[in-house]
This record gives sequence, C-alpha cells and structure tokens, in this order.
Amino acid sequence: MKDAFIDRVSIRIKAGDGGNGAVSFIHYKGVVNGGPDGGDGGNGGDVIFRADRHVATLSEFYYKNIYTAENGENGGQKNCYGKAGKDLILTVPCGTIIRDALSGEIIADMFYDGDEVTVLKGGEGGKGNARFVNSLRHAPHFAQNGEKTEQQKVVLELKTIADVGLVGFPNVGKSTLLSVITKAKPKIANYHFTTLSPNLGVAEYHDNTFVVADIPGLIEGASEGAGLGISFLRHIERTRIIVHVVDVSGIEGRDPYDDYCKINNELKSYSEKLALLPQIVVANKTDVFGAEEKLAEFKKKVNCKVVPISAIRHDNLNELLTEIVNMLDSLPKIEPEVFEPFTYSKPERLTYEIIKNDNGTFEIVGTLTEVLCRNVVLDDPSSFGYLQKVLRDRGIFKELKKMGATDGTTVFLGGIEFEYLD
Ligand code: GDP
Ligand code: MG
Repeated sequence: MKDAFIDRVSIRIKAGDGGNGAVSFIHYKGVVNGGPDGGDGGNGGDVIFRADRHVATLSEFYYKNIYTAENGENGGQKNCYGKAGKDLILTVPCGTIIRDALSGEIIADMFYDGDEVTVLKGGEGGKGNARFVNSLRHAPHFAQNGEKTEQQKVVLELKTIADVGLVGFPNVGKSTLLSVITKAKPKIANYHFTTLSPNLGVAEYHDNTFVVADIPGLIEGASEGAGLGISFLRHIERTRIIVHVVDVSGIEGRDPYDDYCKINNELKSYSEKLALLPQIVVANKTDVFGAEEKLAEFKKKVNCKVVPISAIRHDNLNELLTEIVNMLDSLPKIEPEVFEPFTYSKPERLTYEIIKNDNGTFEIVGTLTEVLCRNVVLDDPSSFGYLQKVLRDRGIFKELKKMGATDGTTVFLGGIEFEYLD
C-alpha cells in the first residue's frame, strides 16, 4: 500500500485514564498521627482531531490501528497531584469526516484549516484521601480511583473540498492543466494512472482565488469499481463545478465525444448530484495536428459551450479562467456537512440492575456499580457506611428483599462480595 492514496481508514482511539487518588498520611520525625495528605490523580489526556491543509491524505493512519492519549499519573504523598496525561492530537486533511464506526453517525466534519474537535475526553483523576476529611472523618483510609475511559472505533473519510474538480479520461491533460493554472506540481507523464491521489492547487486570476482538484483515474466502469475511479468520485462531491477535460486531438485513438459521454455516464451512475454539478467542457491539445477538425465535430455534438485550449502551450487559458471565475461567482460557497453531531457520552452514572443467579446469590450490575466501586474502600468503615447508605437510599435493599434475599444471602457488587442482612 506504500504511496497509495488512502482516503478512508478505520482506527481505534482511547482517551487517557484518570490517575488514582493517593492514600497517605503526614509522617515525619516527631509527628505520630499526622493528618491525611494523599494527593489527587491527574486527568487523562483527550483525543483531539485537527484539520491541516498541508496534509493531503489519511495514509498516516494506515499502518497503526490504536491511538491512545496519555493516562493521568496517580496522586502522591504530601498532597502531590498526579501529572495530567498529555492530549493526543491527530492531524487530518481538511475535508475529513469523522464517524462513529458502530452507528455510522458523523462526529465531526474537519472542514476549515485549523479546526479542532475533542472527540474523546480524558478520564477524571480520583481524589486523594486528603479531600475526604470532614468533621466526623479525620483520617480517611480511602481515596477515589481515577475514571477509566473506553476505547472507541472511528472511521475517517476524506472528502476533498475544492471549488473546481478536473475530470476526464487518463492522459487528457488534467495534471498539465492544473500545473499551468496553479502552483501545484503534479506528476505529468504520458501513461495512464500516473496520478494516484487528487492533487490540489490554488489558482489566482485577477482578484479571484479558487481551489482546483485534479481528480485522476476516471475510466469507463469507475462508478462500479473499475480502476481507481470509485475512490476518487467521492472527492468530486464537494466541488462546486466540474471542468471536464477531453483530448480533442484524438491522438490516443479514442473519439473525444465518446470519451465525454462515458465520463458523464460514470458521474451519473455514481450519483445524481455529480451529474447535476455545473460543467465547463474543455477541449485540450488543440495544438496537435488535425485537432481543428475534430474540435469542430466535437462542438457540433456537445450541446453546451466548449472552451478549446492547449495546456502545454498555455493557449486560451484566460478564456477558461474567466469562464470558471464567472461561474463560481454565480454559485454558493461549499459549506460543511449539516448534521447533528454524535458525541461519546460518559456512561450515565446511576443505572443498575439486580440479577438473581441460579445458586441464589445476587449481583448488582450497571454504571452505579462502577461509580460505587471507584469510591468505596471496603475495609474502611466510613467508606463502607457510605456504600450502605447509597444502596439503602436507592431502594436496592428493598428490591433485594423483594427478589428473595434473606439474612446471609451473598450479594456481589463489582468486585465486592457482601452478605445481605435483613
Ligand atoms: P492526465 O492523466 O489527464 O493528468 O494527463 P497529463 O497532464 O499527465 O498529460 C498526459 C500527456 O499529455 C502528457 O504527455 C502531456 O505532456 C500531454 N499533454 C497535456 N496537455 C497537452 C496539450 O495541450 N497538448 C499536447 N500536445 N499534449 C499535452
Ligand atoms: Mg494526471
């Protein structure tokens, strides 16, 4: 896959876990029963995406599958905070759409250069025991664990954003045209499929600037997957106009009008939207001997305006640029996708379910369990008291009784096992 144009990848991302709070007590010479001084754990790093116009493809993401932000460090003694984990910043080309892999919903459209979106928040650091001191509890022997984050799977899909998309059969002179109307330096060669990725260039004409994308690889059958075409058709969807280049010299033995119809058919089979994009038809290679007659023939068959040029000789480029600028002027700008953004929410904390096992034991599962387990240290009486209070307040004891729990019934809650007392 080296050097191939990668415009769709699926990767796993994970924000950093929060660091655990520390349990510690002041102890130095002469002080026997010092107060608690366990520091808080640091927050985990976020996973952030950033759009960068200097990045052209998603190939960076092809070789590695999992991207993880740094975990927060654990808290320490002497009220030392754990260091926060570093954010992970993933740089993508402008026009990258980020989707949740499971639902397919859009999380972000990285449209403008410099756009930043935090897709996953790092886990919160746990509180150290020093934070659990109150009037009744002078020496808490427990601390809070850091919040653990979940790995998510996302799909990145590049949909190039340009004002003008150059389409046409291989070898008709698209790359050459791009190189003469912009400062882009695409590969130009006299064989098919030289261009493996859409090349972007910025054209300046009088006071106008516009972005041109050279969309390579369109051939007959592209919309059904022939050649590389299908992967490139996606990139024309976000252009405002199509400049349809034909080789009017017929130097390769094909008929220009035939080419023109075939490419239009491909666009149409891919999507109606592409077929409806305004087109400027460019007849290239007018410098070749005999092109004049072919051009006259071609013009008769095509029922729209044709701009004849020679990209190599820079002939008639001004007329073409004027056509493009005028047409762009009459069209709305391209806007980012409109969507209801999908976000990864942290688990709704306070849900639970009681399961009765075949052997008569009970199990409490759900997000409430996670939170309780994070916050409770069993061998600490005040902490255990807190657990009982929560279970009582939420009516869980009552529910257990209703479901048949009696004195001495074993109840599991996360990693904790305790006996139900009536
Ligand atoms: P692409 O595949 O459509 O990008 O085509 P290229 O720009 O790579 O050009 C293919 C071949 O056609 C190269 O050998 C170019 O030098 C040649 N070519 C491009 N434009 C012209 C032109 O205006 N006149 C002539 N005679 N040849 C051209
Ligand atoms: Mg090319």
